[in-house]
Amino acid sequence: MTRTVYVNGEYLPETEAKVSIFDRGFLMADAVYEVTSVLDGKLIDFEGHAVRLKRSLDELGMQEACSKEELLDIHRKLVEVNGIVEGLVYLQVTRGSDGDRDFVFPDPEITKPTIVLFTQNKPGLADSPAAKKGNKIISIDDIRWGRRDIKTVQLLYPSMGKMMAKAAGADDAWLIEDGYVTEGTSNNAYLVKGGKIVTRPLSTDILHGITRKAVLRMAEEAQMEIEERLFTIDEAKEADEAFTTSASAFVMPVVEIDGVALGDGTPGPIAKRLREIYLDESRKAAI
Ligand code: PMP
Repeated sequence: MTRTVYVNGEYLPETEAKVSIFDRGFLMADAVYEVTSVLDGKLIDFEGHAVRLKRSLDELGMQEACSKEELLDIHRKLVEVNGIVEGLVYLQVTRGSDGDRDFVFPDPEITKPTIVLFTQNKPGLADSPAAKKGNKIISIDDIRWGRRDIKTVQLLYPSMGKMMAKAAGADDAWLIEDGYVTEGTSNNAYLVKGGKIVTRPLSTDILHGITRKAVLRMAEEAQMEIEERLFTIDEAKEADEAFTTSASAFVMPVVEIDGVALGDGTPGPIAKRLREIYLDESRKAAI
């Protein structure tokens, strides 16, 4: 089926949607993005994604392509016209195109941002077989730039990390910097030891996950103990369980790290419970 996508104010069949070859998103990765999940045809935590998008744009001195209300309308319209019940809405804003290639940012009065949105249909997203099995991960060096709190489209190294995981027979990779786990290639990372959830505190070293924020709030409400501190991959290997969070995979249990099985090698009770709570609560609050 041909999707209807959104480009700079227009709804178009995907085959007719075009962006300039001079677009800075294409030439310089001068662009930010968001991915919002859809369950029961509704948006999960749209507000959180809209707020983070604004922050990413502000940090890079980029203009807003449209208001939050317009963004919500576009998200809803794309979900509706594409018949998405479970899936994702991808949004990207670039610094636009001034019709040539130059390192210097174009004048924002003249060059307007490019905005693109499209849907991805993912039936069975919530009831995923991967979540029942849990993920096997490997650890790799974190060689990304230093502003990982800005959600830019510089995703080459995360893609390479996923390919390294695949080549090693694993599902994903966790990134290590100065001996400590930063986060996953496309998710935030957690271990659980003695009932306590441990995750890295927010800083410029990691993306401030929208799912992370929601899951930590829900864990606290469920009287679970949380410790925000650095942890090593060796500590994670000795944990009772581990998991990741992201808007596209919710709470995903981790069952193996660098070939070492965690606990009995199946998804742990805290990860499973948090996944249930997250999906329940998010569905109730979806818009
Ligand atoms: N860290 C990284 C590097 C990511 O790419 C993502 C997902 N885009 C996350 C964490 C999780 O963030 P969120 O919960 O907002 O999807």
